[in-house]
Amino acid sequence: MTELTSNIAKLNGYLERFRKNGIQNLIGGESRAALSGKTFETVSPTDKSVICQVSHGGAADIDAAAQAAKDAFPAWRDMPALQRKKILIRIAEGIEARAEEIAFCECWDTGQALRFMSKAALRGAENFRYFADQVTAARDGKNLQSPTLMNVTTRVPIGPVGVITPWNTPFMLSTWKIAPALASGCTVVHKPAELSPLTARILAEIAHEAGLPAGVWNLVNGFGEEAGKRLTEHPAIKAIAFVGESRTGSLITKQGADTLKRMHLELGGKNPVVVFDDADLDRALDAVIFMIYSINGERCTSSSRLLVQDSIAEEFQAKLVERVNNIRVGHPLDPKTEVGPLVAQEHFDKVTSYFEIAKQDGATIAAGGEVVGDEGYFVRPTLFTNANNKMRIAQEEIFGPVLTAITFETEEEALEMANDTQYGLTGYVWTNDLSRALRFTNHLEAGMIWVNSENVRHLPTPFGGVKASGIGRDGGDWSFDFYMEQKHIGFALGHHNIPRLGA
Ligand code: NAD
Repeated sequence: MTELTSNIAKLNGYLERFRKNGIQNLIGGESRAALSGKTFETVSPTDKSVICQVSHGGAADIDAAAQAAKDAFPAWRDMPALQRKKILIRIAEGIEARAEEIAFCECWDTGQALRFMSKAALRGAENFRYFADQVTAARDGKNLQSPTLMNVTTRVPIGPVGVITPWNTPFMLSTWKIAPALASGCTVVHKPAELSPLTARILAEIAHEAGLPAGVWNLVNGFGEEAGKRLTEHPAIKAIAFVGESRTGSLITKQGADTLKRMHLELGGKNPVVVFDDADLDRALDAVIFMIYSINGERCTSSSRLLVQDSIAEEFQAKLVERVNNIRVGHPLDPKTEVGPLVAQEHFDKVTSYFEIAKQDGATIAAGGEVVGDEGYFVRPTLFTNANNKMRIAQEEIFGPVLTAITFETEEEALEMANDTQYGLTGYVWTNDLSRALRFTNHLEAGMIWVNSENVRHLPTPFGGVKASGIGRDGGDWSFDFYMEQKHIGFALGHHNIPRLGA
């Protein structure tokens, strides 16, 4: 039996209950069908087969979930920090115990390759452990003495919050948002992406098995324009943590305006990787390839624009073409697979439309540019060359295993092109000239920049983008700033002079 055959057999075991019972919402600690009784299908991008039926939550289900989160809030907020910490650690342990099931279901639901998803499942556990460690200090504040007052600050959880997540690495991203929310003392209503409901359900189950009180974490499946919209408008929900496309971020900001929602938006990117001729070119090549072709290129931090200095461009691109043509496209559960199928028909149509757009723009398809078979949504890893920064393939987020290479002559030109985009999530700079690295990163418009490195996440560092890539930061204490309110209390030190009116 090959490893793939044995993995498929295991997957079938994990899917059995979903096939039999479908996926229900989880509200107030109870599994519930949608109030309308409606369901929708989730489909595997590998063979277009229906995985299972999913409860189609709408406004009424969100109302029930928001009420449950509101009711559960005071007790969760007031639970001693150490008790909350223990629950979060038990959630991390639950994730670790079911990491294979999570990874396999994620691969089947989203088309992601197992080599990346097994790590993503464990990263989810790390997120819970990391924020569990911060729980006891999260409410600490400052003592700011004035001549007349002892001024004390503290942080308090903002209240029930909504978490809206996308379909790319949905499990890891859900933990990244929900773990700090719970650590802060907030209760949660989670609306996962309609294209990837499987692991969101497993995660909520793990949380309940870990002893999380009913109503602290509520899960409502449904579509953005119904369930998602109601969540952003609900008066009991005090903040929305959103990960998704820039135009959706703009929509939900409008939807949340009437109830003055606090918003944290992690949005799209068209991130540059800039390779200067003095760089370690072998390492740069590895990083360029990894940061666009791993995770099917369906990754907000992917380096989808390669800016390469013209003195080395020909040689660098030739090596790139050779490696890109060697990338193994295949079944997501085959451990050898490097690129799996794209998540769904609509996204497949979007990504493949850029093959024609590239030609119309006048670029060259140096590798890929074609689909693979017709059983699932597979495309060949693609490289566009002879491009310029004004082309659509250089400006629009394609969100697939598709790289646009552009050459530059001078540092100034590279900087101008790197910044000439609506987005500003990440940037990657490859140079061995320290002064240049300092100058360049100083002027590069991005929330996160790596020099001589691929994206390596360190959980205490701030994560987020500028321009159309988002508003707000996650990570370390920045997460607590979002899910908590600062509170100031002034205690009079004695009998200071109080102005007397009408005396
Ligand atoms: P999307 O914006 O289409 O959907 C994201 C979520 O929003 C889904 O759950 C969807 O149902 C919901 N939604 C849609 N319309 C809504 C509405 N009107 N009101 C409330 N909710 C609504 O994004 P996607 O296609 O699922 O994900 C891919 C996008 O996410 C890419 O642009 C990618 O760059 C971005 N992303 C960003 C980050 C980051 O950290 N910056 C991380 C991952 C993904």
